Amino acid sequence: TERRRVDNFGAGPAALPLEVLEQAQAEFVVYKDAGMSVMEMSHRSKAYEEIHQRAEALLRELLAVPDDYAVLFLQGGASLQFGMVPLNFLTAGRRASYVLTGHFAEKAYEDAKVVGEVHVAASTKDDGYRRLPSVEELQWDEADAYLHITSNNTIFGTQWRSFPDTGRVPLVADMSSDILSRPIDVAKFGLIYAGAQKNLGPSGVTVVIARQAWLETCRKDIPKMLRYDVHAKNRSLYNTPPTFSIYMMGLVLAWVKAQGGVTEMARRAEEKSARIYGVIDESDGFYLGYADPGSRSRMNVTFRLRTPELEQAFLAAAKDAGFVGLNGHRSVGGCRVSLYNAVTLEATERLAEFMRDFARKNG
Ligand code: PLP
Repeated sequence: TERRRVDNFGAGPAALPLEVLEQAQAEFVVYKDAGMSVMEMSHRSKAYEEIHQRAEALLRELLAVPDDYAVLFLQGGASLQFGMVPLNFLTAGRRASYVLTGHFAEKAYEDAKVVGEVHVAASTKDDGYRRLPSVEELQWDEADAYLHITSNNTIFGTQWRSFPDTGRVPLVADMSSDILSRPIDVAKFGLIYAGAQKNLGPSGVTVVIARQAWLETCRKDIPKMLRYDVHAKNRSLYNTPPTFSIYMMGLVLAWVKAQGGVTEMARRAEEKSARIYGVIDESDGFYLGYADPGSRSRMNVTFRLRTPELEQAFLAAAKDAGFVGLNGHRSVGGCRVSLYNAVTLEATERLAEFMRDFARKNG
């Protein structure tokens, strides 16, 4: 069988930097002088402790996380956070506000509804989630327990460029599909969560960054594994953490740092997405961009072709040419180019050229 690596534009789990995979391969059987694989180590061992601390330190450095914020490595994916956030903070008599901008925002909202009183601060569902609401459209209250947003809508291809100022109301953001792709002002948020499998590493670990003082106000009458304060107090070692995923994330973080950090990731994301949006906008309607131009994501470029048949022909031809993962989410169809950190400009240019060529031949 051929072992060539394809150009992977999948939405997640996503491509990892080749250098990271090669380093993991070199350390796979015996990690440094530990005499065993990372997967075989006790999570209380010195060798693992170092891996764990280094991953946390790198994430803090790359995202300039203030000292009064906790960084947690949890399991259960971003999906468990849909429930954990309200379980911890949506206490009786309080209300939480949710901005509905897509599939995952809806899922977060639905889980919060199970726990307590929720309010829709804004929804762009009637516009097919093609756009984000303006700050003026958002309706929330100073008394709200928190305001929840999704920073990048993976399925629809929209992304917040700047974030609302919520004052004393904690802003909670699902950053699963754009964390580490740009600098963020962590101090604006009460809590940020992200499944790792797009920009951070393999699946299995979920990152939570939360203001320590708020985190400590969490409910204490819920099972321990669901309490943020328990994980923070134990530095994510309350139980066995996903050690190999955290190790891999550490390698990815070191790679991002060596490449120039999140500022460089943002520059690359601008450049890569501009190539693909450029092809769409210059195609005379052969490719139809899905998101409103003002709400376009730098991570997930969504578009359609004029007919489902043409779309199928495009996806099949792309696959034959070695471009993988271009199908839209199963719930909406269409096409999607995901341009996470590990996707190179060269691969993006190859795809842009393929798209131009396909339009020429089939337009
Ligand atoms: N939130 C967003 C924005 C996502 O893109 C995804 C997955 O694609 C999820 C949540 C769900 O994440 P997980 O599979 O880690 O639960």
